[in-house]
Formats: sequence, structure tokens, C-alpha cells
Amino acid sequence: MDVICRQPARSEAWYQTPAGDPRGYIQPHMLRELWFMTGTACNLSCPFCLEGSKPADDRLGLVKLQDVEPFIHEAVDLGVEQFSFTGGEPFVAKDMVKILQLASDHRPCLVLTNGTEPVLKRLKQIETLQNSKHPISFRISIDWPDQEKHDAGRGEGSFDQALQGISALHKLGFPVSVARQMAADEDTPAVEAEYRELFRRYHIPTDMRLVAFPDFHPPGSHITTPHISEDCMTSYHTAESRGHFMCAFSKMVVKSEGKMRVYACTLVDDDPEYDLGGTLRESMEARVSMKHHRCFSCFSLGSSCSEIG
Ligand code: SF4
Repeated sequence: MDVICRQPARSEAWYQTPAGDPRGYIQPHMLRELWFMTGTACNLSCPFCLEGSKPADDRLGLVKLQDVEPFIHEAVDLGVEQFSFTGGEPFVAKDMVKILQLASDHRPCLVLTNGTEPVLKRLKQIETLQNSKHPISFRISIDWPDQEKHDAGRGEGSFDQALQGISALHKLGFPVSVARQMAADEDTPAVEAEYRELFRRYHIPTDMRLVAFPDFHPPGSHITTPHISEDCMTSYHTAESRGHFMCAFSKMVVKSEGKMRVYACTLVDDDPEYDLGGTLRESMEARVSMKHHRCFSCFSLGSSCSEIG
């Protein structure tokens, strides 16, 4: 076997909690969704970005059509149901529209975007995707329903631009959902009502899906969370609920140091132990350890970037 296909050697911490208990894990059961990390370059530099993305950032490389093509075909062979894309800002990648043309020829696609300048500048190209064989939907980040609070993180003008992006994509006929941040002590119905009112003011559909995320902290953060043992996974979760963890039914492909690698999910690409190999087939064999601090959000809050899980 080609050496670059192999998974990395793993530390004891992958297998055991500090107390010496067997670490909780997920055994992937099928590949329903394949994510592509399009690269950590972004036009914005938000301090809370879980990918640490910013202009010209190259922690993870910008993908090209030829990088993703083999994975699209392998995923289709494995029965994938959807392709999803995240960044950075996916529309910073020159090949993004070509990639969506190819992917949507095979399966429905979801694109996570900040909806600002890179999208607004490429609307004419994006319009060419209107008649794709399978639908393409977008998820745009509006962190808070309050302009000042959103712009404090993303930069002045980004709130208005993101709402323009939602409106323009909606007018082109693409389904759009909104990603929002979630405060630990929030009154969820009240926060959601504020979003609906915002959408009404901007003449966009008030019933758009809202997807809430806790603070995942920037890449490489050393966050202390409770450790998840094998026992925790069976005491607090059932076989069915374990099947809803993203790493049970999806994978994410990234370009790291010029090579395409498959990671366990969208939340752990800052830890090389979650590199599950160079092919999807190989990655589906690997048990995924609950070692990363973000695993605790999945365990305790059911956090997920997926819309199909
Ligand atoms: S962050 Fe969540 S989806 Fe990712 S490996 Fe951990 S438990 Fe699985």
C-alpha cells in the first residue's frame, strides 16, 4: 500500500482517558454525507472562527477540481447521499463553481458560506448552477440577529452583505438556511423570534431553517471538557443516538501540506490523529475516538454541521 494512504500512529490518549478508562468512540456505519474543506483562506478574519481562517491563510490548502474529483466518484460508489462544502470561504476557491457543477451532477449539495463579497462578486457564475441536476443549497452565517454584534466579530458591513447574499441566492431560487451562534444561557424561542423579525424586515422568507452552534474555539485551543469514556457513550447514548454523531455517517476531505486526506468530521481537522487516511474506504474502517474537546459538544449538545443526520 502507498505509505501516504496510511493513518497516523496514535497516542495513548486516543484510546484512553487520563483516568485510564477506555475512551468512548464511534464506529462509522455508512457514508451518507461527504464534506469538502475548501481551504482555510477567507476574506474575513473572525476571531472566533473554529478553522482560524483569514485572508491568504494556508493551514489547509485551497482545493482544485482535480483534487476533489476522485473523492466525488469514490463517494458515489459508496452510496453517498449529499456533498457539503465548508471553508474558510468556499467562494475564495477559484474552482468552486466548477466543483459544484461536478458534484451536483451526482448528488444534492450544501455550501456553507459567509455570503459576503466572494459570493456577491460571483453571483453571475453561481446563477449558472440554477439548473443543476441535483439541488444546491446554501447556509449563510448571521451570528446574531443584531447588526452591531455580528459586525463586531466579522467586520463592518458584513451583516448587510450577508443579508444581501441571502436575498440574492433566494431570488435565484436556491434554498438558503442560516447558521447562528448560540449563547450558553440563551432563551432559544426569543432569539429565534428576533431572527424571524430580521428576515421579515429584509423581505426574505421568515421560515428559513436556523442552525445554532456553540463556541467551538479556534483550532489548536486547549479547552478542558469532561472526558468521554466508553461507559459514558453507552450510559448516556443509545446505538441510535450514536448513529447521529457526524463522524458516524460523514467524513471530511481536506488538503493538508498539498495532500488530500480524509478526516473524521468537520470539527477536528486541527488534530492529525483524526486523519483517517487517503481514501474514503480506508477512513470508513476507522473507529473515531472521542478525544477532541469538540466531541463533548456532540456528546452533550448534539452539535452537528449536517442537515441530514
Ligand atoms: S467532533 Fe463530534 S462528529 Fe467530530 S469526531 Fe468528535 S464526536 Fe465525532
